[in-house]
Amino acid sequence: MESIKNLQNFELIDRDYVVVTAQNHLLEPIKCGCCLMDYVQGDYQKNLENFDNCMMIYNKKMNHIHIQCGSKFNYSGVNLDYKTQFFKNGDTKLYELRLEHSDTCPNRIYRRICQDQEMPIISTDKNIKLAVCMALFDSERNLLLTRRNSNLRVFPHAWVMPGGHIDLGESLEEGVVRELKEETGIQIDSMTMKNGSMVFFHNTQELQIEPFYAFESVSSFSIDHKNPPKGGHLIVFFRVQLNQKHSEIKLKLQTEEVDGAVWVDKSHIQRFLNKQDGDFQIKGIVPLDSNGRNQSKMFNLSQLFPNYPNQDREGISKAHNMAIKYMLQKQLQQISKL
Ligand SMILES: [Zn+2]
Repeated sequence: MESIKNLQNFELIDRDYVVVTAQNHLLEPIKCGCCLMDYVQGDYQKNLENFDNCMMIYNKKMNHIHIQCGSKFNYSGVNLDYKTQFFKNGDTKLYELRLEHSDTCPNRIYRRICQDQEMPIISTDKNIKLAVCMALFDSERNLLLTRRNSNLRVFPHAWVMPGGHIDLGESLEEGVVRELKEETGIQIDSMTMKNGSMVFFHNTQELQIEPFYAFESVSSFSIDHKNPPKGGHLIVFFRVQLNQKHSEIKLKLQTEEVDGAVWVDKSHIQRFLNKQDGDFQIKGIVPLDSNGRNQSKMFNLSQLFPNYPNQDREGISKAHNMAIKYMLQKQLQQISKL
């Protein structure tokens, strides 16, 4: 009887939404309002802010992602039909990356409010959505950042790396490549090999599309014990380096979503990370139309950094800021090991 109940749980889920499940919670998806870091650590007292070497298994046909940190996945109580479907050949891929959330995670703040007031923790009926982003570097290690259109409801004029939601049936890599093309016009081609794995190309160069970081992103404006945060995303960040200089890469910006773009020099990012004073001008572009006609424009580094929203009502989104910081720290560690 138990197994039938479990299968029904999964069938109730809208398949257009991602289901994020963590270890010991594989029988039910994590809902918005519950902190992912709390779930994966399994012990609320620890209050950990990140996990290195976090394992994620993603099934692209189901849009389900299983998360595990520390111990092994435990599928002992999981319905056999579900397990068979989940692990079907070629549909599932394993990732190992760092999982982190904001030090001001609204979900965790909500839990603490409930605990302090001795009120029950209410989770919403909404599933956490899955999103992907691309840290795209040119051959000279400049990073592409785009500015979200000022008309957008969420994070208008925030600076981000290109990305968006995963569609049902897509692998994470296919999703991030599609979003990159839609938002910037940069085409990455793919080929499926006989064993089902995908190879990606740009300008005849084979690309490594490497996942390096995952962030629990929660947007919330007012939290009290009756109002848990309603929206939540798990954002998986990928990293790619092209073999062209950015001056040779033509951008065709998706004007409804993007109203500016810059390639940021690594020294500029380091400067910001080290919180050095002084400003810089960076040459970027703004779109003139949706056909790829652009105009060059000078942006100030202080427009891009620090966190959104800054004094210009711009700045980099917190998730993207933390992903960039982690990526650069990791690179420095690798260099110092040589
Ligand atoms: Zn959290």
